[in-house]
Amino acid sequence: MKKTLSTVSLWALLSLALGLWLGAAIGWGAFALGLLTLVLTSGRQLQKIQLWVRDVDAAPPAAVGPWDDILAPIYRRLKQNREQIQTLNRHLEGMMMAAEALPDGAVTLDQSMTIQWCNKTASQHLGLNLATDRHQSIFNIVRTPEFAHYAHTRQWDQPLLLHINQRGQERALLLQLTPYGFGQFLLVTRDVTQVEKLETTRKDFVANVSHELRTPLTVLLGFLETLRDMPADSLPMEQRVRYEQMMLEQAQHMQAIVSDLLTLSTLESSPTAENTAVPLNCVIEQALQRAKALSDGQHVFVTYIDDNLWVEGAETELASAIGNLLTNAIRYTPKDGTITTSWVLNEDGSATYSVQDTGIGIAPQDIPRLTERFYRADKGRSRATGGTGLGLAITRHVVARHQAELDIKSRYGAGSTFSIHFPKERVRFANT
Ligand code: ADP
Repeated sequence: MKKTLSTVSLWALLSLALGLWLGAAIGWGAFALGLLTLVLTSGRQLQKIQLWVRDVDAAPPAAVGPWDDILAPIYRRLKQNREQIQTLNRHLEGMMMAAEALPDGAVTLDQSMTIQWCNKTASQHLGLNLATDRHQSIFNIVRTPEFAHYAHTRQWDQPLLLHINQRGQERALLLQLTPYGFGQFLLVTRDVTQVEKLETTRKDFVANVSHELRTPLTVLLGFLETLRDMPADSLPMEQRVRYEQMMLEQAQHMQAIVSDLLTLSTLESSPTAENTAVPLNCVIEQALQRAKALSDGQHVFVTYIDDNLWVEGAETELASAIGNLLTNAIRYTPKDGTITTSWVLNEDGSATYSVQDTGIGIAPQDIPRLTERFYRADKGRSRATGGTGLGLAITRHVVARHQAELDIKSRYGAGSTFSIHFPKERVRFANT
């Protein structure tokens, strides 16, 4: 403004001087020309500013006279605001991403419990679709009376356990409400279906172990009480020996159960198998010797063993899995049956250990359950041959710890084949 005034004043003085020197008309003419030039220049500058206002993100126009001093601070302020908005947006995005990444579900609700926002996990837990369910009451989504009661009592220090049926699948969810901000609420959801299942499995397991140990213990106690209550010389020697033999068998059975349970617990508590190159051909040969002793000449043994084939893994674990499949083949194959053991390299570089028998076979409905602890397809035969019902559960663990696969094929009454497929990455060769 000051600049404009001094320009006009200077021009007025010049015009006055011209007027005095060449006459008043020339002086006024020069003054009018000066004013016209000023008006035209200002008009052009305003035009430039108008253009800039349409896109204020761009740098302001240069050489706009007195406007330079006004536009520069405005542009600086605009730039600062833009940067602040960008930083805030980045923070907001980060918060949203963190909320999305939460392993728990989160739903924000306003004062009247209508849905404002939810993360992906909450959508899955509650079957929510934010596009259609935003601004819906949460009670239209979680429709159980327990949740309505929980929300209204406002005693939210403990979560509420709900069993929700979603597309035919039962889910166990923990729901907890928390007030926050200005009268809003946060609903946190957690899927505890697996935890509940594990708890049930644990309870079943304890019940099963107690049951398994109770039977031999009862027999053992029965004999001990009989021996205690009978006069020393009233029991014929032959019968005493028979009783003692039976007691020994029951004690051995309990010992086998406890030992298998300990093996299982060790396998479950250490996440991975140690890794050394194991000469599996030797491990199989040793297991075969023990199997032949157990068979006592009652079965025919056929073997195809690749002596060059090793496996990277834990030797004792592998020996237990290999021995277990062989022992089972003998126990579930009647006299004169054939047991074929093979250890071969496959075309794709993987290797397979398999035990085929011509035994009693397994009904199709039993096959998927064989590796469950204490599951027996043939209870009578398993107990009669001293089975603990844990052998295949142990085998399954060992197999999984070696990234291998256990394959069971069987026809009821016609024999079974149990195979362990080791991945290529685990296969080693003796001469390398
Ligand atoms: P068990 O100690 O009872 O043999 P396992 O876990 O080793 O326990 O096996 C589970 C069940 O699988 C056995 O009780 C038996 O019914 C069935 N089974 C295992 N191997 C064979 C086989 N080779 N032939 C037929 N049935 C088998």
